[in-house]
Amino acid sequence: MTSSLRECKACIMAKIDAEFAANLEQKIKHIDDELKVDPSTYQERMSICEGCEKLIQGICRACGCYVELRGVMRRNTCPYNKWVAIPEDVEDR
Ligand code: SF4
Repeated sequence: MTSSLRECKACIMAKIDAEFAANLEQKIKHIDDELKVDPSTYQERMSICEGCEKLIQGICRACGCYVELRGVMRRNTCPYNKWVAIPEDVEDR
């Protein structure tokens, strides 16, 4: 299921603040792979967030989270259910 090659980057934030994005990317990198979604799921989630009216400066106005941190975690769900948590017993794609 897991791979040491997971590359979930802070691409939304990178368009706003490169230094902050680099810090966010480091935080994401240090999260246990078991807890993270696979990169394609992550990109799918971030595409949804990028098109969402609640996203302002990389932060979700509905939950107050940096979407890149919220979206990388398997257990997290969008507050509006635009993307949902992945149950523990479901394998990566
Ligand atoms: S987490 Fe949900 S509500 Fe928040 S920006 Fe992303 S899609 Fe929109």
